[in-house]
Formats: sequence, structure tokens, C-alpha cells
Amino acid sequence: MQTPDRSQLLRELKNHLLFLKDAGYTEIPIESELLPKNISTPNSDKVNIIENDEKMKTLTQVKDELGDCTRCKLSQGRKNIVFGSGNPKADLVFVGEGPGADEDEQGLPFVGRAGKKLTEIIEKGMNLNREKDTYICNIVKCRPPGNRDPEKDEIEACNPFLLQQLKAIQPKVVVALGKPAASTLLGRNVAITKERGTWHDYQGFKLMLTFHPAYLLRAYTIENRKAVHNDMKMVLKELNG
Ligand code: URA
Repeated sequence: MQTPDRSQLLRELKNHLLFLKDAGYTEIPIESELLPKNISTPNSDKVNIIENDEKMKTLTQVKDELGDCTRCKLSQGRKNIVFGSGNPKADLVFVGEGPGADEDEQGLPFVGRAGKKLTEIIEKGMNLNREKDTYICNIVKCRPPGNRDPEKDEIEACNPFLLQQLKAIQPKVVVALGKPAASTLLGRNVAITKERGTWHDYQGFKLMLTFHPAYLLRAYTIENRKAVHNDMKMVLKELNG
């Protein structure tokens, strides 16, 4: 068996700690607290509730729970929450960064220029139908003012809902669009130019990293287009088993 390298071990440790945090732990539990989930310790009760919740919720239930969210400061400037759109049973989910002005106006993800580019990638590049074959959402559901990057506390407030969305959909493949989405899902700083085109694990889902369509619009070079094309070829291969 191959020995994992140090950075891989550290990544796995970080992911495990993030899992514990999402599950409601405030300290690292000892093994006996983790294993017998049916035995009533304060933490294991919480894990059971959260895990069952996440497994059983439908997208509609996740949306209802999100409600008219005021969990972070982005709620103050938004017009609409952009929850996500597409097929709730899609095999393929794209995760972007956050709504822009057009998305905020319409309450739908990727409907502006970057959205047109994403639709082109899906429909012309992959020969799929955006509405029928994919689900599209973002790491934050409200528009950051002036299209700035979402901040840590905003991402953290939204993250449980993204995870629950993915658990409700159960896609075969998740694609992170751009550095902020990739870094959020992997819980570390991702160098997207180096790491695009590589497979990862996100909470048991197969995760591919690629460029954000807005980046493609800014840097529309043959290399970048080829890169995304190749990434999507790998995704299609995985989808088609
Ligand atoms: N960019 C994103 O990351 N998400 C959107 O919904 C639109 C543009």
C-alpha cells in the first residue's frame, strides 16, 4: 500500500476536523463518543440528528430551513436569495462563487455573462442540457456588495446549506468553478491554475476543479479553453461510468 504524503495526511486531518465542526462538536471527541451513535452522549446525539437530517432532507426542505436568511451580513444588501437551479436529482452539480447583479435581480444562479459561458460549456461542450442534466449553485447564496469575494464568516454561514443541498441531490460529480469554490470545498487554499483538472473528495462526492467561466471570459486563450474542455471530458467520462 502506498504511504500517503504529509500534505495529503494534513488535508485529510483538516477535512476530518471540518466534518466534526459541521457535526456540532466543539472539542475533538474520544473514540468511544464517536462510535456508538445510538448511545446517548451529548455529542453523539447531535451527530445523529445532523446526519439524519442531512440524509433525509429534500432540496425543498433545505430551502425552507434557509428561509429568509439573515445568518450573515450579505442578507442586508441582497435583493433575492439565489438558492440554486436545475434538476434536483442531477448527476452533475456545478458550484460557483456567489451571485452577481443579474443573479441577485432574478434570484437564479449564473444568468449573466458568466452564466451564458457556463451554459455554453454544458450544452455545446458537454452536449448536456443545463436544466435537465445539471444543478447549479454557489458557495454563498447572496450577492457580495460590489461583487467582492465572499468573506470567511459569510462562507461559513452558508456552507451547511450547500452541504445539505449536495446530500439531497446525491450527484455523481461535483465541479467547483474557480478558486473560491475549490478552496471552500477543500478547506484549504487552492492554486486553481495548478490544480484544475484534478479529482478530489468532498464529503464522499467526487469533486473536479476547473476554471470559473468568468475567468474564461477575461482570459479567453486557447490554453484556457482547452483546459476546461479537458476537465469536462474527464467529468463526462466519470458520469458515463
Ligand atoms: N458567478 C458565480 O460564481 N455565480 C453566479 O451565480 C454567477 C456568477
